[in-house]
Amino acid sequence: MSRDVDVAVIGGGLLGLATARALLRARPDLSVTVLEKEAHWGAHQSGHNSNVIHSGLYYAPGSLKARLARAGGEEMIRYCEQHEVPVKRTGKLVVATSTSQLPGLDALAERGRANGVTVQRLSRAEFAEREPHVAGVAALSVADTAMTDFAQVCRALAAELTVLGAQLRTRSPALSFTATADRTVIHTPGEELRARTLVNCAGLHSDKIATAAGDRPTVRIMPFRGEYAEIRPGRRGLVNNPVYPVPDPELPFLGVHITPMLDGSVHVGPNAVPALARQGYRWRDVDPRMVAELLRDPALRGLTRRFWRHGVTEISRSLIWPLFVRDVRRLVPEIESKDMRRHGSGVRAQAVTADGRLVDDFVISRTPRAVHVLNAPSPAATSSLRIGSRIAADVFEQLGHEDSARTVREESAAA
Ligand SMILES: Cc1cc2nc3c(=O)[nH]c(=O)nc-3n(C[C@H](O)[C@H](O)[C@H](O)COP(=O)(O)OP(=O)(O)OC[C@H]3O[C@@H](n4cnc5c(N)ncnc54)[C@H](O)[C@@H]3O)c2cc1C
Repeated sequence: MSRDVDVAVIGGGLLGLATARALLRARPDLSVTVLEKEAHWGAHQSGHNSNVIHSGLYYAPGSLKARLARAGGEEMIRYCEQHEVPVKRTGKLVVATSTSQLPGLDALAERGRANGVTVQRLSRAEFAEREPHVAGVAALSVADTAMTDFAQVCRALAAELTVLGAQLRTRSPALSFTATADRTVIHTPGEELRARTLVNCAGLHSDKIATAAGDRPTVRIMPFRGEYAEIRPGRRGLVNNPVYPVPDPELPFLGVHITPMLDGSVHVGPNAVPALARQGYRWRDVDPRMVAELLRDPALRGLTRRFWRHGVTEISRSLIWPLFVRDVRRLVPEIESKDMRRHGSGVRAQAVTADGRLVDDFVISRTPRAVHVLNAPSPAATSSLRIGSRIAADVFEQLGHEDSARTVREESAAA
């Protein structure tokens, strides 16, 4: 069966769903189909993350991440409130555990202020009032942080899309692409979609989809797994609200943090280890083809040259439980090995350049008939509604709906 559509969105995570929503809210007359290869929405990154609505503290001023996180976080909080998705403004602490980390803490405070985030420096005595079991020499208090459940946000978006008239297809992988004079034909097991515009929000597979659709992405995805532990029920009171370490400025990861979830559980993590498959949630998930490709890729050599020390530390901490416990004890000295157990993981779709640099900012590329999201790591869940509006504006321009593009950009800026 073959069907003509205005827009085909590949990927039913937060970004694909948010993009379809922004398109249909602005132009209900468009035909929009979302293709998701799994049986449910948010099956990968969007359903396996820390559930933190970030404040915009960490990101280089002026970057897409910085611009989209601050306002995107507020928009996400409002969305949750309006759609009965649990959400709570918890605030968080970033804690320096030694005096050598104080310059890093101060640099972070400065960066946060440059991004419009309200941060407050706390002495040890001050933060001990809030978190008596947390050790450290000083902390930043960041009020504009909230907790939610992004898997539920995905379900709310899918429900809204049904009402807006989107065609939603789960268990529908985009398998291959052909081009006609004015359309991209997407071949799926059940049907052939002839789309005027293609939106690629395929997360861990986004570089492959971009290449298959005829683009030449300048970055490739390397999967980095983030593993979590959970604190046993009797010891959950050791931390009241999210507590983060001072991050390593060389890496686009935030460090192992302790995060009380809205369901009462308390998660510790994620670390960042190379995954051996795009959906490599465990060490034993190995995709020999991906590994062989990676070993031939000069990007891996560049990455190894730059980050081998970090890599050895992270892999050791993943495989040797006492090392993981030791790191958590730097923040919460009272915690013991028996107080925690391993508890699942998520896999980050992290873009890497050809010479092996980890790409920090979001990357969204445009060709005449497609928009490809090539790097959307954290805080893309926080910013997903805003990123969706941005992609929708690009799509409207491609379709020649300049007015809708302008309206979406203006509404997004005013929201
Ligand atoms: C461990 C971890 C912790 C994180 N913590 C946070 C956090 O606290 N706060 C925050 O803001 N961000 C966080 N993030 C980042 C956030 O989860 C992601 O940025 C966001 O979910 C990206 O959404 P997405 O839609 O781009 O990707 P995904 O959710 O991965 O969606 C991509 C979808 O595309 C589908 N797909 C792939 N190929 C095909 C195909 N051929 N055909 C059809 N469908 C296809 C996949 O099945 C998948 O469902 C975290 C990420 C991880 C991994």
